[in-house]
Amino acid sequence: MKKSRLNRRKYQRRNKFIIITSLFIVCILFAGIGIKFTLRAKASSENQNTLQKVPVSTTNNQSIQHNNTAKNKADKPPAVQNTVSSNNSAGNNAPSSKNAGNNPVPPANTSSTDKGSEAPTPDNEEVPNKVAYLTFDDGPSVNVTPKVLDILKQENVQATFFVIGSMCEENPELLKREKAEGHSIGNHTYSHEYNIVYSSPENFIKDIKKSQDVITKIIGTHDTSLIRFPGGSFGRHSYKDAVSKAGYRYIDWNCLTGDAEVSRASVDRLLLRFNETMGNQDKLIILMHDAPYKTTTPEALPQIIKILKDKGYTFKGL
Ligand SMILES: [Zn+2]
Repeated sequence: MKKSRLNRRKYQRRNKFIIITSLFIVCILFAGIGIKFTLRAKASSENQNTLQKVPVSTTNNQSIQHNNTAKNKADKPPAVQNTVSSNNSAGNNAPSSKNAGNNPVPPANTSSTDKGSEAPTPDNEEVPNKVAYLTFDDGPSVNVTPKVLDILKQENVQATFFVIGSMCEENPELLKREKAEGHSIGNHTYSHEYNIVYSSPENFIKDIKKSQDVITKIIGTHDTSLIRFPGGSFGRHSYKDAVSKAGYRYIDWNCLTGDAEVSRASVDRLLLRFNETMGNQDKLIILMHDAPYKTTTPEALPQIIKILKDKGYTFKGL
């Protein structure tokens, strides 16, 4: 009797041990599967991020430019996020840039919800089939803007300057010249500092208004509704809503030269990126920069204008 009780206890203890061990193994298996799925999900989201970034500008490039910016705000990389990104595969391979790139770039925000960034269709004016809007961000600067203006004058071409308020304070005469020579002036914020302008939609509008006051003081009446987001509007939904409600119209781009993708892009590279991202679009909004360090942009500009003229584009300001 005693022996049989002992055996039963032994048997129960063994069963207990087997059950606990099995549970432990099952737990380990589940934990392993969980980790595997998490890793896989993470990898997949990283891949997606990479795909989105490539057309725009590489992370390295961005950080290089960001550092430069500390010294010179105007040199900040404009983000090319929107537009050129998904259609043109050639654009993806290229060392990035911010926007454009891949697609036959959905014309600077063509979606019905993005009315704010559509290129204007002036009333009472016959719109040519092929229109090129040359745009220059981050100026005015003493060493690049005058060269750009000289070329535009020589070629008899209209363009748009998305100026930074603080740069206008430094170079008011250049802003006056841009206006006097018939170009459009857009507002590209006062500080162009991402940590300031993108701290909240309210702060963005505050910075825009600060810039607007500076610009108006220098050139007087102008179209104050025209703005461009530093880095483009891509993904900035709450900011887009806020500026639209405040009566601004933001313009992105659907073509670029990539002059913000690397710190000193060669003329060949600029032309390559331009050709890659222009595709067969009838309406081109071309992103370029007249910030202090963009010295190769005016070097490439005459060739860009020639290519556009040869293809039958008419030039307009936004
Ligand atoms: Zn910019």
